Amino acid sequence: MKITEHIAGANGKALFSFELLPPVKGQSIQQIYNAIDPLMEFKPPFIDVTYHREDYIYKQHPTGLLEKVTYRKRPGTVAICAAIINRYKVDAVPHLICGGFTKDETENALIDLQFLGIDNVLVLRGDARKADPAFMPTPGGHSYACELLQQVVNMNNGKYLHEDHDSNKTNFCIGVAAYPEKHFESPNPETDFKYLKQKVDMGADFIVTQMFFDNQKYFSFVNRCRENGINVPIIPGLKPITTSKQLINLPKIFHIDIPLELSEAVSGCKTEKDVKDAGIEWMIHQCKELIEFGAPVLHFYTMGNPEPTYRIAKEVF
Ligand code: FAD
Repeated sequence: MKITEHIAGANGKALFSFELLPPVKGQSIQQIYNAIDPLMEFKPPFIDVTYHREDYIYKQHPTGLLEKVTYRKRPGTVAICAAIINRYKVDAVPHLICGGFTKDETENALIDLQFLGIDNVLVLRGDARKADPAFMPTPGGHSYACELLQQVVNMNNGKYLHEDHDSNKTNFCIGVAAYPEKHFESPNPETDFKYLKQKVDMGADFIVTQMFFDNQKYFSFVNRCRENGINVPIIPGLKPITTSKQLINLPKIFHIDIPLELSEAVSGCKTEKDVKDAGIEWMIHQCKELIEFGAPVLHFYTMGNPEPTYRIAKEVF
């Protein structure tokens, strides 16, 4: 079922959902089940699974020559989605990225997803590889999420890359990412917003936001969207602070601010357990306000650890 249909069917009641990362290569699917099982109590209608592009390193041969070695640390997105649908009978939402795929490979991947009965995709540009200074498109692939989005929209209209298939249209509900605090590469919020609007005008059905710790940022962002004709559901992405290191890491990695009140509460904690409790308490408060505001879904970035999300959802749903 499409995410937009889940939201419409909830009649204004906020839904619960979450995102998982595929485990590091070599680990078992049981790890994914362990991350999902406790959270099924809150009846998620859908679960997202991230996609991770290949990375590369240079290895030195005994001859002294450098060899470029390409590897993927977290493969398995599509297989995990299939396992989720099969075991939990809920929708799985694979993230689809530009990096690492030619357009033909993207088309084939979308055909596989359709065969698997996947109704939703979250369409993204994807992160830069660690070894690259910035995002590098794959030759023959897409440079921006809007181009990938156009390919999915085309397939939904029966337009494949090399021929039309009017009798075999895909029917994906398409999500895109947005950044209430601006995407880090964008020169200003206005430019970033312009490209978000372009994605929605091109056919995106829903938006999922980057994490934020100050609800005012989400409220202003939603209001701005509504004032500018962006009327699709805007799903807030949420992650509680659970370690003191995250005071530095989250702003550094995700380019978001941590409000003074929260950073002082965390800095004032004596133990890591206290930090986690403070982060969870903050997020419970955030969630209650978001529900009151009318957020359609509370979507948690669990990073494979269900426990903090469980504690929050227990208080909120
Ligand atoms: P885009 O929409 O392409 O935007 C990227 C930048 O280019 C922005 O600064 C934008 O303003 C600008 N821009 C957009 N369109 C144009 C244009 N036509 N011309 C010029 N500039 C333009 N990364 C992963 O690798 N795997 C994941 O699974 C993953 N999941 C995510 C889930 C969510 C909810 C979010 C918020 C992010 C996720 N990311 C993931 C990270 C994401 O891929 C990065 O933030 C990436 O840098 C941007 O992706 P995007 O889809 O927002 O890109």
